[in-house]
Amino acid sequence: MNKIKNIFKKMIKNKKLFVLSLISLILAVGVCSAFVLFHFVPEASYRVKTFVSGILNCTVRLDKIQADKYDTKTIVVEEFINDPKVTFDQSMMLINAEHPLADDFEAKTGEYRDSGVYMNCCLFDAYASLSLDISERFDTKLYIKSAYRTYEQQLEEIESSSDLAAPIGSSEHQAGLALDVYVPYHAGYAFVQSKAGQYTASDGWKHGFIIRYQYYNVEQTKIAYEPWHIRYVGFPHAEIITKKQLSLEKYIDSLEVGSFYTFGDYIITRQAPLEGTLLLPVDYIGAVISPDNCGNYIVTLKIQT
Ligand SMILES: [Zn+2]
Repeated sequence: MNKIKNIFKKMIKNKKLFVLSLISLILAVGVCSAFVLFHFVPEASYRVKTFVSGILNCTVRLDKIQADKYDTKTIVVEEFINDPKVTFDQSMMLINAEHPLADDFEAKTGEYRDSGVYMNCCLFDAYASLSLDISERFDTKLYIKSAYRTYEQQLEEIESSSDLAAPIGSSEHQAGLALDVYVPYHAGYAFVQSKAGQYTASDGWKHGFIIRYQYYNVEQTKIAYEPWHIRYVGFPHAEIITKKQLSLEKYIDSLEVGSFYTFGDYIITRQAPLEGTLLLPVDYIGAVISPDNCGNYIVTLKIQT
């Protein structure tokens, strides 16, 4: 005991040694705490990475442009249907308690690869590429727990898990645009504790998906964190939403009606159809038109750069 007291006395006398010992002690405690945190709380590493990527991606932004920067013309939406370069889908619909689906809404769904799973047709290729990516990277299979739900199925979901299921009409599952996914041993909340779950959250945008109800957007979505609920929004929206850590609510709200934006090879415009017409640039190599469920269309044009 006296020996330890003597060591402390010597250390206090020798200020330099004391400061060095204190720094070493703080570092050792820090390293041990980080090890314990990352080892026993796998999600912690995901949250740290998300925090860092939020800082690294702070320069990602949509550039608002003047419509006259491009040759534009007024296009009748109905006539667009015959243009082979144009895809009409429902990918950019905002569905929540404030913007429920209309009573006469019809989801454009189909069966995914004879699996018995029904989802919105615009997810077919995106889900196929995401699940292939996951299986190649992590040697595991991505499974779907819940995809498209009919009115009756959503009602059943509410009755069986009233805390989590959205009210009738305000669930993205009723449009077939969301999937509840999992990998073996990591279902539900545990999905984010798996490497596949963390990759889906950080890189799912490469396949057009976002984690719709993120832990950092609960105030905007009014829905608790659901790491398993992936939502298809397509390109380049998924990339912008993920990198800028936005909710779909905030992102769609940031697109002013009537304005044009650029992001990489894309032009994005949100427009209220004027007598069934939209004002669009004429030079594009592909276009996706989706209603936003707020009375407007969101048009995403791929351009040659
Ligand atoms: Zn879900």
